[in-house]
Amino acid sequence: YPAFERVPLHLLPPAVAERIAAGEVIERPASVVKELLENALDAVAQEIRIEVRGGGLRLIRVSDDGHGIPETELAQVCIRHTTSKIQNFEDLEHLHTLGFRGEALASIATISELTILSRASETEMDELMQPALWITWRGGEQIQRGHRARPHGTTITVSDLFYNVPVRLGYSKAARTENGHIIQLVRRYAIGYPGIRFTLRIDEHNAVQTSGSGDLATALTELYHLSLSGLLHDILATDEQHYRIHGIIGNRVLAQNSRQYITLFVNGRLIQSRAIQDALERAYRPLLPKGKHPLLSLFIDVPPEEIDVNIHPAKTEIHFLHEGLLKEALTAALKAVLERVPASALAPDSI
Ligand code: ADP
Ligand code: MG
Repeated sequence: YPAFERVPLHLLPPAVAERIAAGEVIERPASVVKELLENALDAVAQEIRIEVRGGGLRLIRVSDDGHGIPETELAQVCIRHTTSKIQNFEDLEHLHTLGFRGEALASIATISELTILSRASETEMDELMQPALWITWRGGEQIQRGHRARPHGTTITVSDLFYNVPVRLGYSKAARTENGHIIQLVRRYAIGYPGIRFTLRIDEHNAVQTSGSGDLATALTELYHLSLSGLLHDILATDEQHYRIHGIIGNRVLAQNSRQYITLFVNGRLIQSRAIQDALERAYRPLLPKGKHPLLSLFIDVPPEEIDVNIHPAKTEIHFLHEGLLKEALTAALKAVLERVPASALAPDSI
């Protein structure tokens, strides 16, 4: 190895520090889609449209009809730690938004070309086209701005992702792979928010389309193009105090070879939890053939002060205060449902 050459202790230039921090939040194109979706959901959008080209490296565009960003604030949203969602550390204990770190837009703007066009809803003219401000950042610098008419809401366009992060660009997989991650992500959000109309277009083709009916089973049918009637079973369990669990599990006929049909939301937040996954497997493993996983949409609601979401910048991991209790409740709830279902629909050797 070449000898390590120590440089004198110094503060990293802000642009370098920014680019390093950006790497923690934005791992791949799907991370951009996730952050933009979460912002649209926090803005109480009813309809969210996503457009992707070139596996997300060429273009990602998310448009919503949410409450928008006031013109006076637009120039600041790409400054790190700028947020309209919390005011002090204690607010994390009763968080009702998905965002709170104020890091996503700053990160994305640092490693791409980002344009935000937004109009805040304020008048009865909301639905009409009105002039709205747009600003473009590239590599973290504002490079252009202008006005364009639109109804209230926000459109964020990200192009040239990772143009100045050669390592990440090289690490990005084929467009097909990145598109696959994006489709899975958008499907899961559409499951989590069945009352919202989602459209995902990839290279001009519709990849996801939901009606926003508000009904979970309808959303699943729209997403998976499966005939699900009679094959889904409701899950419901609560101790009134620490948790409320609800959702849907598909029976054996719908069992899949991968976990991609398992969706877990905790307090409206899409979560990956090893602990929860273990509890789930313990419940369904005896009832499904080896290597099979159920179609399962699970929603867990707990008091906000009983989870810690501030573990990782991507916010997909959380800690539960009462993890043991929750795992037991989950296993029991799932078993109760699975045992109610006729054995013929679930027993490993019945079909
Ligand atoms: P955070 O979501 O943690 O606050 P972001 O960097 O994702 O941080 O966004 C910064 C701010 O920009 C948000 O707090 C919000 O005020 C504004 N914002 C971003 N996207 C939208 C959107 N789609 N609609 C309305 N406001 C938005
Ligand atoms: Mg955000």
